[in-house]
Amino acid sequence: MGIIKIKDLIYEYAKHDEEGNVESTIRAVDQVSLDIKKGEFIAVLGHNGSGKSTMAKHINAILTPTEGTVWVAGKDTAKEENIWDIRQNAGMVFQNPDNQIIGTIVEEDVGFGPENMGIPTEDIWKRVDNALRAVGMIAYRKHSPNKLSGGQKQRVAIAGVVAMKPQCIVLDEPTAMLDPMGRKEVIATVRELNEKENVTVILITHYMEEVIYADKVIVMDNGKVVMQGFPKEIFSNVEKLKSYRLDVPQVTELAYELKKEGLPLTDGILTIDELVDELCQLRLKI
Ligand code: ADP
Ligand code: MG
Repeated sequence: MGIIKIKDLIYEYAKHDEEGNVESTIRAVDQVSLDIKKGEFIAVLGHNGSGKSTMAKHINAILTPTEGTVWVAGKDTAKEENIWDIRQNAGMVFQNPDNQIIGTIVEEDVGFGPENMGIPTEDIWKRVDNALRAVGMIAYRKHSPNKLSGGQKQRVAIAGVVAMKPQCIVLDEPTAMLDPMGRKEVIATVRELNEKENVTVILITHYMEEVIYADKVIVMDNGKVVMQGFPKEIFSNVEKLKSYRLDVPQVTELAYELKKEGLPLTDGILTIDELVDELCQLRLKI
């Protein structure tokens, strides 16, 4: 069993009428099964309303299944007695950094999680130190979070999760409110945590450029997982992605159009370097 295992997950939101009776239900996640291994970097794509956030909230037991089962580090999220362990093992980072920062000084904010866990003070400082280093924010430890840029705030929020030493981090559109610079900072931080600290990463995003380094990409539509594979496999299916109202990276689209015009390029080109290489090879052949 992987670090996260989701089996036949169904989640339905109840809609209530004025008297509080359940009027109808909306099926937000529909029969999803996933097995995520320790250290994997998983990207989740999908149009608005496809069920990404609802699925993600099951990974740290904010929601529990209507049907099916979710296990984190082998523990069933539906069991009350497991919640503490699960929350510690699977940290969450949300879209808006302002809603996640509570401390008035960066280091205080980052120490909040471990403090809540009852970690001895001396160890808290070590953890805060390491976490701030890991996200490249150690120089700001005494600063007020208010004065930081969006990208910096989001890195502090990530440090707050890292300080709890979780095995997985789930990031639900962490870059949606950031400028391009902030987006780059956050993605670089997440990649480094994954590569150096072997933290399992589940990154939900709208930005195609952010998923090309993932080990695996999952596409959701209408509550279901509709595509699953290596980034290259996923982006080879330009038409299919478009049918799920998703874009492809600009360079992938360009390569796809050139191929349609008759250039013998491979499918699923993801970076400018790859495209340039292939075009140069073609020139040599002519
Ligand atoms: P995504 O994160 O992919 O945009 P969500 O998981 O937020 O998708 O939403 C999936 C579906 O569930 C949508 O139809 C949405 O309207 C519905 N939904 C989400 N949150 C709630 C809620 N709190 N109450 C009722 N319906 C909800
Ligand atoms: Mg969402």
